[in-house]
Amino acid sequence: MNKQADIVKCIARLSLFYKHESCGQCTPCREGCNWLNKMMWRFVDGKAKPSEIDMMWELSKQIEGHTICALGDAAAWPVQGLIRHFRPELERRMAEFHAQQEALKQKKIAA
Ligand code: SF4
Repeated sequence: MNKQADIVKCIARLSLFYKHESCGQCTPCREGCNWLNKMMWRFVDGKAKPSEIDMMWELSKQIEGHTICALGDAAAWPVQGLIRHFRPELERRMAEFHAQQEALKQKKIAA
């Protein structure tokens, strides 16, 4: 990956990998990886609400340390790193997406 890589998309792709690899034996990993993946793709598009950033952090903490093998931790940590280091980028995408939606709504009303 070079500096032009979309970091949010990269982490979403990782979350898809962990969802796929989860064997399903323990609930925090089975359910949590599925939710992390669903939420991450909302973050890629910016569709999510800013409050979902903290929700995703909490979700990752519900997985971390609560699973039989290390896959749960491995799934949680990239998401935590993304939030820790790239929160402004997540918020920027959300603001941009919701501003576009609002502009479209206003355009429809005006038409
Ligand atoms: S943490 Fe390991 S054992 Fe538990 S569901 Fe995930 S892959 Fe299976």
